[in-house]
Amino acid sequence: AKENGRNRRSFFEPTMEDHVQSKDKLSRELRLAMKFDELDLAYQPQSDTYAKSIVSVEALARWTKPDGTVVPPSQFIPVAEETGLINDLGLWILNKACAKAHEWPSLSMSVNVSPNQFKHPRFVEKVMAILAANNLPPQRLEIEVTETVFAGRNDTVLKSLRRLKNLGVKVALDDFGSGYSSLSYLRRFPFDTLKIDKDFVSDMNGNAEAEAILVSIIQLGKALGMTIVAEGIETIEQIRFLQAHSCHRMQGYFISKPLNEAALRKFLEDFERT
Ligand code: C2E
Ligand code: CA
Ligand code: CA
Ligand code: CA
Repeated sequence: AKENGRNRRSFFEPTMEDHVQSKDKLSRELRLAMKFDELDLAYQPQSDTYAKSIVSVEALARWTKPDGTVVPPSQFIPVAEETGLINDLGLWILNKACAKAHEWPSLSMSVNVSPNQFKHPRFVEKVMAILAANNLPPQRLEIEVTETVFAGRNDTVLKSLRRLKNLGVKVALDDFGSGYSSLSYLRRFPFDTLKIDKDFVSDMNGNAEAEAILVSIIQLGKALGMTIVAEGIETIEQIRFLQAHSCHRMQGYFISKPLNEAALRKFLEDFERT
């Protein structure tokens, strides 16, 4: 019985040591994965309000192990953040996304940047170098950050955001509404784009409070001159609601799941035709 109890405990709640070990292991594997080309990007299309055209894609990191297991970014990005690997990984992602952007000249390319990558003292220089190396106009690139980038000392964060904006790179505030004090961040920096967290969109379905909050966020963002993107759109009812309230852009499984390069090419061809 004792044996049983211990097994149960270690199964349901890994000890601190297990946790550290599995993180170390994941981080070692991730370094090799970068070297051996197991990482790739998926691209999720973003449409205008009326789903008439695709305006942009968001690059999302994918890691497929040789045995076919897919490790979700929610698992490996935090590990990369903690181990510092995020700098190399993030630059690889940015470079790949900027190189691929040429395949879809009418679309802009959104790339997620995590706080520790963004806070690297030479981050803006790296972005400039990548844009130049890929000959990509800065206006075609959008950097997505979440409000967690403002945690702690953030004067350098604001400086980097301004420098990117001055270069012409678009800057989006991602997962808006998922944190604690989002409103104050809107005052600190004029983001080009506001991405409403998918939890707000999924809570909506007929819930008057959630709908009221959603409508207010759209109005607030518009009053501040931002482009508003609703994420996690899964139903036609959500689309109709957001159209009724003139949300600028839509992203979610209802439009398309994240696609690999070939699937995106096909998706765009089919989309053009209909
Ligand atoms: P995110 O930036 O908020 O990205 C949106 C996530 O929502 C993606 O998950 C996407 O697949 C998922 N999604 C899109 N539409 C729908 C929908 O209609 N319903 C639902 N339920 N989900 C939807 P994914 O690809 O697993 O990425 C998770 C998170 O990992 C991202 O959240 C982002 O924070 C992070 N991430 C992904 N790629 C990168 C990257 O290249 N760099 C960094 N720093 N973070 C990344
Ligand atoms: Ca994002
Ligand atoms: Ca998001
Ligand atoms: Ca998120």
